[in-house]
Amino acid sequence: MQSIPTGQFITRSAEETFELAYKIGEAINEPAVFLLQGDLGAGKTVFAKGIGAGLDIDPAEVNSPTFTLVNQLDGRMRLYHLDLYRIAGGANEVYDLGLEEMLAEPEAVVVIEWPERLEALAVPNAIRVVISDLGGDGRSVNIRRET
Ligand code: ADP
Ligand code: MG
Repeated sequence: MQSIPTGQFITRSAEETFELAYKIGEAINEPAVFLLQGDLGAGKTVFAKGIGAGLDIDPAEVNSPTFTLVNQLDGRMRLYHLDLYRIAGGANEVYDLGLEEMLAEPEAVVVIEWPERLEALAVPNAIRVVISDLGGDGRSVNIRRET
């Protein structure tokens, strides 16, 4: 079991959100899946960059893909970064992306923006991260394990 910090955090800048996610990325030593929830501009991609950096991936390479829905980036573990915002066909289309195979990989970390698009598609043992805008550069970041 890896020691991922969970709980409610307040960040006051994008850098603080990045740092929080970086600490989580650093702690990852076995497959993990993160569901990043929050409005447009909440900081989901900033958080994904931090996780990537903690996996020794250049955060500049972790971007919300516009035309591709999934990016594969290789660091000390493989990162699959999915942004499902533009998914039009519901859970079937997510399934077609090969999510099951990604989740089954022995050395992969899967980070999903807009997990609402998964609908009823089950993702076992996920870590849910809910980011809310507190106004200005303030964000609350709630991290919890699901079963
Ligand atoms: P999302 O992926 O959720 O749509 P992004 O991560 O792409 O959002 O963008 C978040 C934006 O908010 C960035 O421009 C970032 O600099 C800004 N920002 C300001 N304060 C924070 C904060 N505390 N945490 C994360 N991002 C912040
Ligand atoms: Mg994003």
